[in-house]
Amino acid sequence: MILSKKIQVLKPSAVQALSARAKEQTAQGKDVVNLALGEPTWECFEPIKDTAMQSIQKGCSHYAPAVGRKDLRQAIAKNINQHLNLNYDFKNVTVSIGAKFCLFSALQTLADPTDEVLIPAPYWVSYPSMVDLIGAQNVIVETDTTTHKLTADILKKYITDKSKILILNSPNNPTGAVHSIEELKSIGEVIKTHPRLCVLSDDIYNRMVIDNPPDSFAPHLLQACPELKDRVICINAASKNYAMPGWRLGWAVAPVPVVQAMSSLQSQTVSSAPTISQMAMVPTFDNTEEDVQKTHQLIKEKKQTMCQALSSIQEINFQEPQGAFYLWPNVESLFGRKFKNHPIQSSMDVCTLLSQHFSLFAVPGEEFGRAGYIRLYFAVPDRDIEKCADRIKDFISQTK
Ligand code: PMP
Ligand code: GLU
Repeated sequence: MILSKKIQVLKPSAVQALSARAKEQTAQGKDVVNLALGEPTWECFEPIKDTAMQSIQKGCSHYAPAVGRKDLRQAIAKNINQHLNLNYDFKNVTVSIGAKFCLFSALQTLADPTDEVLIPAPYWVSYPSMVDLIGAQNVIVETDTTTHKLTADILKKYITDKSKILILNSPNNPTGAVHSIEELKSIGEVIKTHPRLCVLSDDIYNRMVIDNPPDSFAPHLLQACPELKDRVICINAASKNYAMPGWRLGWAVAPVPVVQAMSSLQSQTVSSAPTISQMAMVPTFDNTEEDVQKTHQLIKEKKQTMCQALSSIQEINFQEPQGAFYLWPNVESLFGRKFKNHPIQSSMDVCTLLSQHFSLFAVPGEEFGRAGYIRLYFAVPDRDIEKCADRIKDFISQTK
């Protein structure tokens, strides 16, 4: 059977592929430390489970509307309005299968083949593949090499008449960088002068700004420039803030015609997000706030433990992440050395050697569009953080 040309060039998600390899090593009995997959290592919160159980009793076996259940859309609108001080209606909300399908569906809904999608690098691994799949043009925007942030001046250099979508992700996966309101304001001013440009704001880590108070939300483009509301699609999900990655629930908040179009696409493809996940999510914004804030504290502690553990390793240089749950160390000082006759020339080499010889899994920066770095997920048990540091030290001590 001959695969389609599009699929022949499609790479699997590096994060998922590495995690699969980590699981294989675990099955072989190895003591694996998997810091490749960025998913909460804790269970979702008890009230969510309780609502899900009750939903099963009440009956949740039927399809949900393609656009999403009204009660959930209302709850999402209320939540985003509280955060952004805006007045979205439930009709501005569509629900789908994780942030992933919301992003894919929004891209599909907005971009034609000649349209350019601006993706600031470092970017989350799946954005460029999604753009390839929908057949639009990827434009990788090289952000500031120290802060890894998009600035207004950088954005100006990349905008053309063909620019259609800018993807913003703050807090950022993989770097943990968080844009301030002032930075977002100046980016917003540039967007305003290009009326064709829309923004996909991937807000999936918006409750994880590490040094802000636990009840805070990440600064948002629509707080800085609410007048851009008709050109911004806000994407979020239950996966990170509510520790529900396997429930496959995400949402997009957008102008009504975009919501309708995404819903049509959904009705012809995946039908709807799982009914049980939607029912379980409805009261979650209100009844899990304490858990969300505890998670914030946990991430803060884990960040400190990870930074502390790696700080004594001279060859590993990093800035403390401001948000999300990843450390983004630079490993270029190892390039040019050898480990047991294997030359180390890239962060890909570093990650391959760490996984093969030390069962430590990290994602190479190349996968996020910036070589020289590796991504380490740090919201893991302390003993895994200790093992990570020990194994990196052991690895480096054997390089020449
Ligand atoms: N965006 C970013 C930045 C992510 O890190 C992830 C990873 N989960 C997603 C989107 C996809 O999230 P979901 O699991 O809700 O599909
Ligand atoms: N977002 C997570 C990560 O970057 C999960 C991977 C995925 O969704 O493919 O690790």
